[in-house]
Amino acid sequence: MSETSTEKQEKANDPAARRGELDVCPVCGSSVHPQAYFCPQCSNYFCFICRSQVTPNDVLLQCVNRDCEYFGKMVCSQCDLSQTTEEKPFLYKEPTDGYWPAWLLICVLLSSYITWRTTFLAGGLAFLALYPGIGYLLHAAGLNIFGKERSVELPRSTTAYSCVRCAQPAKLITLSKKT
Ligand SMILES: [Zn+2]
Ligand SMILES: [Zn+2]
Ligand SMILES: [Zn+2]
Repeated sequence: MSETSTEKQEKANDPAARRGELDVCPVCGSSVHPQAYFCPQCSNYFCFICRSQVTPNDVLLQCVNRDCEYFGKMVCSQCDLSQTTEEKPFLYKEPTDGYWPAWLLICVLLSSYITWRTTFLAGGLAFLALYPGIGYLLHAAGLNIFGKERSVELPRSTTAYSCVRCAQPAKLITLSKKT
């Protein structure tokens, strides 16, 4: 007597225990096979454990362990919570364009002005001093003249799905959308 009550208690605490009337469709109320997760009467799928109706937008899981009593059954993501583990972020360098076209234009304008005011040689020398010389100083000062590499950090995480009954890896499935 006391053993059956503890058994009942265990079943109530078991998150994998099936709930509700197993031979009645939760959507339309017609009788279905107790092992079913699909109703042929109303063509609706429902979760094997909590018997809530599922749609193509829901995350669904299916146990792939043949020895498990939930093998091949469809379980909703509320009954079978996935484990997401954070991994080390993926780092990579991304080149960024510098302001060199604008800087080149400024240098060309300035040296042509100097050429016009003085000599061609002075203008050429001024360009050489300006574009690589001052450009390098500006770049070193933190202004992105010649382009830089930017570190980009991509967060990574993996989501593991496992059967709520046997704890073996489970397959993610999707329902085909009704047309
Ligand atoms: Zn139904
Ligand atoms: Zn469920
Ligand atoms: Zn399983």
